[in-house]
Amino acid sequence: MTQETILIVGAGLSGAVIGRELAQKGYRIEIVDSRAHIAGNCHTERDAATGVMVHVYGPHIFHTDDQEVWDYVNGFTTFMPYKNRVKTTSGGQVYSLPVNLHTINQFFGKTLRPDEARTFLESEADTSIADPQTFEEQALRFVGKGLYEAFFKGYTQKQWGCSPTALPASILKRLPVRFNYEDNYFFHKYQGMPANGYTEMIAGILDHPNITVRLTTDFRREAADGYSHIFYSGPLDGYFDYELGRLGYRTLDFERFTYDGDYQGCAVMNYGDVSVPYTRITEHKHFSPWEEHRGSVCYREFSRACEPGDIPYYPIRLVEEKAQLADYVARAEQEAGVTFVGRLGTYRYLDMDVTIREALDTARLYLARRAENAAM
Ligand code: FAD
Repeated sequence: MTQETILIVGAGLSGAVIGRELAQKGYRIEIVDSRAHIAGNCHTERDAATGVMVHVYGPHIFHTDDQEVWDYVNGFTTFMPYKNRVKTTSGGQVYSLPVNLHTINQFFGKTLRPDEARTFLESEADTSIADPQTFEEQALRFVGKGLYEAFFKGYTQKQWGCSPTALPASILKRLPVRFNYEDNYFFHKYQGMPANGYTEMIAGILDHPNITVRLTTDFRREAADGYSHIFYSGPLDGYFDYELGRLGYRTLDFERFTYDGDYQGCAVMNYGDVSVPYTRITEHKHFSPWEEHRGSVCYREFSRACEPGDIPYYPIRLVEEKAQLADYVARAEQEAGVTFVGRLGTYRYLDMDVTIREALDTARLYLARRAENAAM
């Protein structure tokens, strides 16, 4: 058994899973996180007044096809069944998302069957656009002006802070419409919500005698000597003091409010109209429908450009950012003894299951390399 100490920056899912895997192999693990709590952006907290489990950094629904990841998370908590069914308000009506047969029939005032709806949408599509270049062209080509303007245009504009004419077609890869009444947002085999929230689950992952966690502690490069390796799940550009500029992110502002009763009757209500400044309202008690609550906690969600000091949420990853990212990656590859991991360390949007899969693989690769070196 080794008594080397490894430093992990970030007590989110990436840091917790890597830490746990290495702790189980005898490494001493020190984890630092600048926040006052563990679990990173998956953090959940029970509201004392209403008893609602609040998803503090926005709603998180666990969904995966990865059997090992599903077994892994179930080893630390009990998952309750949960299906994500999203509604949207547009032009004074409420519709079902993702756009499905119900949405199409309601929007056009029809009673189409699947094949009829497919033919009908083909007649709506703008076939004069032969080679769509922008998000807008792609959407018009796929679904036509009516559905595009009601369900894609306003929401996308608010989410990305620019016109869909300025976004690449690649953002809308496939036909974003279902020709049946399936309104479960995800297709994955396993979907659910941890019974007592994500923070309890991650506390379970971190609960190992070889792991020490220090909260409200910022990582400083100059104070990182003496560790046999560092796994860094903070922002990639932040590690290098933004020397090559700041990688672009969107951030979110949450306007929290409580309600005495049931505010909107569902967990997520999107707002497709640009006249409404927020993108959606989330009502958190509906993320744990098996619980009793004494009121409701809701978030109005606003998206805007991330400024220094804001929490980075969604990496923008357009042409300019990707070029800058390549420069940072080249720098990171020169950094001996440091592995950059997670959504911020690799500047990618990663679902939780992918985060866990990558963390498990990263830890195993590290262990395999160490074993190889020891055998030489
Ligand atoms: P993080 O959770 O961001 O953890 C990184 C940690 O590092 C943070 O705690 C931070 O405080 C700490 N840190 C950063 N810099 C430093 C530093 N210099 N010093 C010390 N500590 C530092 N995934 C799903 O599967 N389903 C969903 O429904 C879903 N919804 C999402 C909704 C939103 C709005 C967002 C943004 C993401 C969503 N995700 C969802 C993705 C999920 O949040 C990520 O998979 C997960 O948070 C990644 O974990 P991480 O550990 O890589 O990063």
